[in-house]
Order: sequence, then C-alpha cells, then structure tokens
Amino acid sequence: MRPVGSGHSSTPILTTEDTLVSLDKLTGVVAADPGQSRAQVLPGTKLRVLGAELAEHGLAMENLGDVDYQAIAGALSTGTHGSGITLGNLSSTVLGGRLVNGLGEEVPFGVDAGEDADHDLLRAAQLSLGTLGILTSLTLRVEEFYQLHRQNWITHIDWVLEHFEQLVETNRSMDFYWYPRSDMAQVRMLNKPGQEPDLVPPGRLKTDIIGPSYEVIPNDRHLPFEEMEYMLPFDTELEAFREVRQRVKTKHRARVGWRVLVRTIAPDTAMLSNAQQRRTMTIALLQNNTLPFKEYFDDMEPLFRTFGGRPHWGKKHTLKGNELAELYPEWEEFHRIRRRMDPDGVFMNDYLRELFGEKEK
Ligand SMILES: Cc1cc2nc3c(=O)[nH]c(=O)nc-3n(C[C@H](O)[C@H](O)[C@H](O)COP(=O)(O)OP(=O)(O)OC[C@H]3O[C@@H](n4cnc5c(N)ncnc54)[C@H](O)[C@@H]3O)c2cc1C
Repeated sequence: MRPVGSGHSSTPILTTEDTLVSLDKLTGVVAADPGQSRAQVLPGTKLRVLGAELAEHGLAMENLGDVDYQAIAGALSTGTHGSGITLGNLSSTVLGGRLVNGLGEEVPFGVDAGEDADHDLLRAAQLSLGTLGILTSLTLRVEEFYQLHRQNWITHIDWVLEHFEQLVETNRSMDFYWYPRSDMAQVRMLNKPGQEPDLVPPGRLKTDIIGPSYEVIPNDRHLPFEEMEYMLPFDTELEAFREVRQRVKTKHRARVGWRVLVRTIAPDTAMLSNAQQRRTMTIALLQNNTLPFKEYFDDMEPLFRTFGGRPHWGKKHTLKGNELAELYPEWEEFHRIRRRMDPDGVFMNDYLRELFGEKEK
C-alpha cells in the first residue's frame, strides 16, 4: 500500500501493484491557533490551497519550495525545501499529527500525542517517505501572514561567487541559477518589504514583485525536466559548486540544455532529513526532459558524494542501503521505529526495499 500526494516525485517511490491511497479529498485547514503559531491541516491539502487558507486565518508557512502543486504530506515526506539559511525544510515545521500505521492503528505523534509524546517518533514521522503509515492529520508551525518582495537579477556568475556569503546572510531567502552556456546567473532574492539589503547585483532586474508569501515564493514550471539535487554542508567558498561548474564546462556544456540551482537550508533534527544537524547548501542539476540526462547525472553524482552530499529523497540519485546509512547518524533508529510501526512491510515496495538495503519481502 502506498500513499500518494500529487505524484511529483521522480523516483519509483509510489510504485505498487496493489493499493495506491490518494488523500486528495482530505484537504484544508482544520484549526488555526495564531497565539501558538500553529495550524492543524489535512494531508492532501495542496500547498497553494494551504497558503490561501492559512492567509484567511492571518497565518502563513515559514517557507515554500519552487512550486506549489504538491500535497503537504507528500512535500514534507521527502523533505521538500525552499531557500534561506535560517529557514528549515517543510518537514521541520511538523510539530505533530496522526498516522494510521501498518497494523491499522491510529497513532498520534508530537504535540498531538500530549505530554508523554515520544520525541523520536515525531522526528521519524517528520520525513518518512510514507513508510511509517498514512498521515491523516498534521500540526504545523506557522508564522503570522506576511508579504514578500521578490527581486530576480541577471548578472555574471563571478559576481555571485564573490558575494555569496553576504547575499546569504543579508537576504531572508536567496538562491541562484547558473546557466552553463552563457556563464551568467540569475540571483533570486526574497525579503519582507522594507527589509531588503543594500547589496544588489550589478545587472538587469528581471522580476520585481510584492505579494503574499505563498504567491510570491513559488514559480510556474511548465517545462518538464529531470533533476538531481544533493544537500551539502554549507560552505561560503562554494567549493563544491566551483568543481561542478568546472566539470560541466569541460565535459558537459555541449549537452546540458539547462541550468544549475544553488540554495541553502537551516539545520533540523528529523532523522532522515538531508539537512539534519548541519547548515546546508544544495546543488541541483536540471536538464530538459527531451535531452539525455543519465550520463550527465552519473558523472556528477560522485563529486557530490566527495563533499558529503545527501540526495533529495524525491529526485534522481543512485544511493542505496549502506551508502545512505553512512550519511544518516540515526538511520538504524529510524528503521527500528519503522519496523515497529509497520512490522509486516505493508508500506514497502521493491524500490524502498532496495533503497533501505532490505532484500527480503
Ligand atoms: C516541478 C517540480 C518542482 C519541484 N520543486 C522542488 C523544490 O523547490 N524543493 C524541493 O525540495 N523539492 C522540489 N520538488 C520535489 C517535490 O517537492 C517532492 O518530490 C515532493 O515529495 C512531491 O510532493 P507530492 O505531493 O507530489 O508527493 P508524492 O510524490 O506523491 O509523494 C512523496 C512521498 O510522500 C508520501 N506521502 C504522500 N502522502 C502521504 C501521506 N498522506 N502519508 C504518508 N506519506 C505520504 C508518498 O508515499 C511518497 O513517499 C519539485 C518537483 C517538481 C516536479
């Protein structure tokens, strides 16, 4: 049995020959508590709907990723993130909730479990790839409703490399695309109006908009693409990116049709979070899905691994079992909890068994 959100993950994580459970009809904000900065939401709520409904309560998510088509349970179950060195991924905003485990029991966790809550169960459920059970309710940490000012600048990559640390530290959220063929960059800066830093890139201002955060953070993505994204320890010198740039320029530029995206994430404590216990920078390789991607991704992946990279759970990568266990200090603990929640492997498929290094059905 596999629970599905919007089905946007590009691994076989949802594949099943048995039962696919859609939570599409479990949608909406059930309760909002602005005093405690909390909201109870249903798992099938699409991020765009979530933003609009939270706004009606004067609330907002702390951050969002690049698109808002995902369901909240699907997004947080793979550690979906936006950018900002003080902003965690979506999983880190989960304070509690309820799930139906592999034994058919309804299990509250985190703040929903009351005073005796098992903190480890919360940290496992925050990012579980849908392997502990089906999330039926979520209690999220939210913020007071806020507006954001988006400015996208086109400038040369060398300027970005020189000012990266300052850009990260002075913007609420900042990321950049590098375009291999032109060596230009698009710097995307998001700040609350009135809190924009003085430092702006020399170049062309491509986008300049102000609006509710849930409308301004996500973009429309109509071009289908393939993507590999790794989470690496934050490094102001961008050494990993410099090596990626060098390798793309020398080996792949002729065949790489698109761009490379660099973002940052605050550390958190979820057991399988790829930003667990470390300030993180992410590097994503994007390739038009009409062009070959495998040779490119296969050649770049070892480079990410030499920098201690952890792959995005919803995007292309080839790591399995022991390779992943080495990257996550609480790997065994997560699986101990998973086996307790789902002793018969009701939520496992072939892909997950291989990913987790489990051969037996
Ligand atoms: C165009 C595009 C842009 C993207 N941008 C970003 C980005 O900016 N940042 C980023 O980090 N990622 C990004 N992603 C990746 C995407 O956010 C993740 O793959 C996300 O998990 C997809 O959400 P979904 O609702 O489609 O989940 P699905 O792919 O449907 O499911 C993901 C996981 O969640 C589990 N799940 C779903 N519902 C439940 C439930 N109720 N209970 C338990 N488990 C459940 C599923 O079993 C599965 O393991 C992007 C993907 C695309 C296609």
